[in-house]
Amino acid sequence: MGVSESENISSAAVGGRKPRIIVIGMGLSGVAMGIRLMEAGFSDFTAYEKAEDLGGTWHYNFYPGLRCDVPSYYYQYSFSPSTNWSHRFCGGPEIKQYYIDTAKKYHVYERIKFNSGVKHADYKDGQWHIELENGDTDSADFLIAACGILVRPKYPDIPGLDDFDGKVLHTARWEKDLDLKDLNVAVIGNGSTGIQMIKPLTDICKKVYSFQRTPQWIVPVPNRKYTAVGKKMQQLFPPLSKFYYYGVRFVMERMMGVGVIRDGWARRNVARACQWNLNSIKDFALRKKLTPDYTPMCKRLVMSSEFYPAIQRPNAQLVTEHIDHVEAKGIVTEDGKLHELDVICLATGYYAAEHMLPMTMAVENGPKLEDVWKGGPRAYRTVSMPGFPNFFMVMGPNSPVGNISLASVAETQSEHITNFIKMWSDGKFETLAPKEEATERFNKDLVENMKDTVWTTGCASWYLDESGVPVSWPWTANKFRDDLKHPKLYEYEIS
Ligand code: NAP
Repeated sequence: MGVSESENISSAAVGGRKPRIIVIGMGLSGVAMGIRLMEAGFSDFTAYEKAEDLGGTWHYNFYPGLRCDVPSYYYQYSFSPSTNWSHRFCGGPEIKQYYIDTAKKYHVYERIKFNSGVKHADYKDGQWHIELENGDTDSADFLIAACGILVRPKYPDIPGLDDFDGKVLHTARWEKDLDLKDLNVAVIGNGSTGIQMIKPLTDICKKVYSFQRTPQWIVPVPNRKYTAVGKKMQQLFPPLSKFYYYGVRFVMERMMGVGVIRDGWARRNVARACQWNLNSIKDFALRKKLTPDYTPMCKRLVMSSEFYPAIQRPNAQLVTEHIDHVEAKGIVTEDGKLHELDVICLATGYYAAEHMLPMTMAVENGPKLEDVWKGGPRAYRTVSMPGFPNFFMVMGPNSPVGNISLASVAETQSEHITNFIKMWSDGKFETLAPKEEATERFNKDLVENMKDTVWTTGCASWYLDESGVPVSWPWTANKFRDDLKHPKLYEYEIS
């Protein structure tokens, strides 16, 4: 049942205790969580979002060319498919609008407090107490962190960057109305972000330099525009949208989802598609410079049909000489050449392992987050942590971030968390947290199974933590859904 029809009906669905709940973060994870809570009738929750609007990544990012390279039909919630996607891979603003509309439809939006970053969370006297950056406080029976993964921009440590006379900006801190027309622009970094920017920049800039440290495998993904007739058909026959969702999900999970976790036909087919794409570059010297020396998908696979044609345009230049330093006029590479510039764009990624940070957390007579995560973030089945009662995470450590659509991951985790809160509401426990030994077992198993994944085949990427272990999920999407649907209660400390 959806709560959109009536909040009261769904509230009536809950007969037991009414929990007070705090959700931190309102990206696609937090919104999924809010909707599941509303559907279960747990409407006494407040969502704290540090930004001035909802959307997480899709709020903070609005660089030129931003779009989601996961098909939009799969980058939405299964229970609320849009019948109005404009393209197979929609742009950032359209995606953000989908999440805003969905949050409003399910009455989550009015429970959000914007401009409200959470600084600290304390568990004492059987409740979670939070303190906000603006000094406000709040308390709840359950605390749910949906703080995102690719949140904190990584600024490169390049000598002289501060001496540059022009503008330097990170892609995740873009400036509204920034006019790059007829300027000389550098893009440092060629991950999914840097690659997406090259084509739109070459459309308007005088010259675009793509500074590449390591080549990327790129799979072509033509971006089809959906017709008005197709959209009308979906509006007339709503099951069609669900059919598209599950169709794309099936293909993505069988192709990318399986290809990343084990060798076999899926991995080989992705590799063939990448090689075929690369072969489209006729200039042999350029092709060589763009050829990676690692297995496709080891780094997060870049999806683009636009980059190779764009980098061959007369006003584009691939720079593979490493950057030595930046000076007032531009970037100087190790061969001593000065590339004169007006703007430097840092497409240099994120601190992906900093889940929830810089927020601090502590449990009375128990652990502190900074201590338990000293060696890197660690969780039990991606959603909870030993010693932290009635605390859950959406998109916590080792969520399948490299395997399947994050919207699907968020749905599964939100449902799992809501099921536990239902048990609390029914009086089945007061506090619950996974056992330390179960968490250790889970993490040992996880590391063991990472050996077959593509992420450990010999490349540097944001998937790897400090000890070189991927912070993703080494099993199938079905196992993820199944594990979270069937929690092993004997692996929890329950009071
Ligand atoms: P990224 O994949 O971490 O790439 C960072 C890039 O910056 C790499 O090319 C890296 O080179 C380079 N770099 C970092 N420090 C550097 C330095 N000091 N000097 C020169 N180069 C440096 O970051 P991202 O492109 O922002 O993408 C992050 C993730 O966001 C993606 O993997 C994807 O999951 C997500 N994303 C998704 C979409 C989407 O459409 N769904 C779009 C954009 C991003 P090395 O490779 O040599 O380290």
